[in-house]
Amino acid sequence: MRLSTLVYMHKNMEKMEPLLYDVIVVGGGISGLSAAARLKQFHVKSLVIEAASIMGGRMRTHQETNLELGAQWIHGGVNANSLYNYAIQKGVLNKENKIQEDSEKGIFFYTSTGRMIDLETSQKAWEIHERIVDESENYPKGGNGVQISLKSYYEKQAKEKLKELRQVAKNKTFSGEYESDLDYDEEDLKLAMDALIIQFEAYCGDTLDEAGVAVYGTSQELPGGDVPFPSGTSSVIRELEKEIDERVMNTKVTRIEWKDDSYFISTEERPEAYRAKHVILTVPLGVLQKKSITIEPPLGVAKETAIANLRPGRISKVFLHFNEPFWIPGEGDIIFLWTKKEMEQGVKSKDWTTRVSSIHELESCPNWMVMWVSGDAAVIVDSIDDEQVLKGATRILRRFTGDPGISVPDKILRHPWLADPLTLGTWSYPSIHSKHQDYYELMRAMPSPENPRLLLAGEHVHPQYWSFMHGARLSGLEQADKIIKYMGKMKPKQNGISAAK
Ligand SMILES: Cc1cc2nc3c(=O)[nH]c(=O)nc-3n(C[C@H](O)[C@H](O)[C@H](O)COP(=O)(O)OP(=O)(O)OC[C@H]3O[C@@H](n4cnc5c(N)ncnc54)[C@H](O)[C@@H]3O)c2cc1C
Repeated sequence: MRLSTLVYMHKNMEKMEPLLYDVIVVGGGISGLSAAARLKQFHVKSLVIEAASIMGGRMRTHQETNLELGAQWIHGGVNANSLYNYAIQKGVLNKENKIQEDSEKGIFFYTSTGRMIDLETSQKAWEIHERIVDESENYPKGGNGVQISLKSYYEKQAKEKLKELRQVAKNKTFSGEYESDLDYDEEDLKLAMDALIIQFEAYCGDTLDEAGVAVYGTSQELPGGDVPFPSGTSSVIRELEKEIDERVMNTKVTRIEWKDDSYFISTEERPEAYRAKHVILTVPLGVLQKKSITIEPPLGVAKETAIANLRPGRISKVFLHFNEPFWIPGEGDIIFLWTKKEMEQGVKSKDWTTRVSSIHELESCPNWMVMWVSGDAAVIVDSIDDEQVLKGATRILRRFTGDPGISVPDKILRHPWLADPLTLGTWSYPSIHSKHQDYYELMRAMPSPENPRLLLAGEHVHPQYWSFMHGARLSGLEQADKIIKYMGKMKPKQNGISAAK
């Protein structure tokens, strides 16, 4: 059916019976599009309903600059990664696009008094920080691990590791070496460790008070490094869009109700506009938590508790363009060492700048830098205007580098993911109340696995790869497969190989 005919039909349905589909997919991000493309492969008629004016959700490339307003890296450039495979198959990525770890680059740590701390100390701090991050991922999983917040975990580990270092220093002094021979400054190291916790926040996706360490490590890291898409994440979305059946955009789903042996889908424009035998609901966690869509009968206590226990993630990613770069190419990665006191005062006075962890130059886009903000501060950033963000960013850059001549960036680019009612978060993570089992509960079809009618998909439901684009894609594929199997359409494996994911 031609798209113009379809648009005409959808616009003129006021007096029509609901349009009937095998499957309605709510949300056109990577999970929804992957599900719909999979259904089409197996001749299952589906419709994707997307509330925004473009598909892709949190995968959004700014066309003129190629900057990624949302997701950027495929974490894990290996065959085991279904998104990586798909991108290679479609030619939007090639095997040479793998990037190496940029350990060659210097990390510059600046204090709030405009002093750069020496390289040995910053390297030592970074080393300890990375060790803590790695070890947190190996924390005993699920029920075996005592559930504490990542913040307590990080602070405890940092303290212990600094103590161990002090012990080594003491032993050296006893053996006749002087402390001044040590290759780091103890006070600066402590300052750096206190501040680097915000780096961990930017990595995890929020302040760490509520993130639960025992479930945190269940998100599996694939090998193969971090791989960017040369033409942006939107390039993979465009490929998927070619492979789906039907779609409507600018259409917000408000109600999903089971009656007369099918689901009736209401939109803002029209009650019961669509009818389907199965629904795959892929709206983000924040949207589910806000209950922007009424679901009848409700999801039930187990799923609702699992949803309430997860957190949608609060990060602001802000791109700044400098007409005249103040950094030397290759030396534009700056970590801001706020003191503990400054950070605490910042929380009290709602000064978002004290939660800016770092700023990084973008080698692929000269003159551009990206700044990360986490937690409550990110919520503030997403609610204020560009001018205020530019002012705040310039203020901290001048203060930390000690260079009052740094010019105000002349352009700013960002998407307010936390304020956008269609996302209400960045990428999800488990709280101290979550159990790993919750993800399996969220993936469990309703009303039962034998009768899969309503299925949740999205980055927030995948038990192994939650938070990632490839987790979102896999969740869509797996939920679509349950419906395909139920409908008896699953093709027998050919030569032992089923259709590639
Ligand atoms: C700043 C940022 C950086 C990130 N970096 C990375 C990264 O480097 N690597 C990585 O792997 N992941 C990253 N992520 C996470 C990644 O973007 C997500 O895991 C993934 O894109 C989620 O896909 P999804 O299909 O689950 O959800 P979404 O992409 O959010 O799709 C859900 C869709 O539902 C639609 N919708 C909402 N409400 C309704 C409604 N009522 N009716 C109809 N439609 C509705 C939304 O408009 C949206 O299009 C990042 C995310 C952000 C925000």
